[in-house]
Amino acid sequence: MGLIWEKNGVPVLHERPDSIFILEDKDAISALSNYFGILRGEKWAKYLIAKSIQVDYNEKSDVVDLFKKHDMAVNLLRKILSDESLLREYEKVIKSRKFPIKNLLSLKYILALRILEECRFCEWNCRINRTNKQKGVCGLYNDAYIASMFIHIGEEPELVPSFTIFFSHCNFKCVFCQNWDISQMHSGRVVPADMVAREIDVLTSKRRIRNVNWVGGEPTPNLHYIIKVLLYMNANIPIVWNSNMYMSLESMKLLNGIVDVWLPDFKYGNNKCSERLSKVKRYFDVISRNHKLANAYGDEMIIRHLVLPNHLECCTIPILDWIKKNLDLSRVRVNIMAQYHPDYKAKEFPDISRSLTRSEWLEAIKYARTLGLNLTV
Ligand code: SF4
Repeated sequence: MGLIWEKNGVPVLHERPDSIFILEDKDAISALSNYFGILRGEKWAKYLIAKSIQVDYNEKSDVVDLFKKHDMAVNLLRKILSDESLLREYEKVIKSRKFPIKNLLSLKYILALRILEECRFCEWNCRINRTNKQKGVCGLYNDAYIASMFIHIGEEPELVPSFTIFFSHCNFKCVFCQNWDISQMHSGRVVPADMVAREIDVLTSKRRIRNVNWVGGEPTPNLHYIIKVLLYMNANIPIVWNSNMYMSLESMKLLNGIVDVWLPDFKYGNNKCSERLSKVKRYFDVISRNHKLANAYGDEMIIRHLVLPNHLECCTIPILDWIKKNLDLSRVRVNIMAQYHPDYKAKEFPDISRSLTRSEWLEAIKYARTLGLNLTV
């Protein structure tokens, strides 16, 4: 880890001059204005606002009733975000860090624990009780396993330095996974949520990181744990959801009012390629639905697309077209990634058994430019 210092109140890295230049990039600033506002201390991370909203719920109520209270509180959170005078009222609570005991975030935690008992965090919808030693497709019981957590300097320039928490296990079985040692094998260790929260609070107070980046494997099966960490945290730091986006509608609801920047991997432009290469059903239907939802919440996004060799026609172009047609692009950046190389079992699949060529990547970039997408690198 190299030297970190600040420019305009935002941590920057001397090894990544692009992390400095991006602070003056008009396209980045306009798409991610809330994100940069939090970094400059002019705005609040959503999870802190969620914590400041008192909700009178009964933990024993059924999930439908709890979600009714939850949804009303999320509507209030969205109103607070768009109404300066209302925000000032809640700001007093946030600044004091004396949050009501029963608040929107604690309600999200209660709901996450209830979902865990009949797990449907993602669209596999396994409906098994993970608190009672039952495993679903992701291979996890109750506990979250952290494979590593560190200050990552290899992410998009907007994001570095990023405090990245890599969970072990995944609900996808991508045959070309570059993190297969943590996504497809059991690894890592259980780290108490308060310990992770303390680490984040300290790193933020020392101005060492720009965000907290939940990734894996996949963060979705660990949603209950992530909310628990947020309950212990106090730092005003953006929350980044770095995911395959195969969340259920209930998980999408729980994430509404927590995530500051969505960092989804949009891999395939159809359901056939996903079934063959990631062993997952209804991919395009679920992932496009969740992108639309996150965009409709009014949140900011950096959509990642890893270009696969021989998949321009079936995946890259349909995804870019879909983004253009279906999202409000004023809050969306797109990262067209060139770093594909055949890893894990990719050699067994002739179409993806080689690296991406430069011309394939340039073709993808050229097409995205003709659509007028806001690209990052
Ligand atoms: S997180 Fe998804 S894959 Fe894992 S048990 Fe729950 S529904 Fe199944």
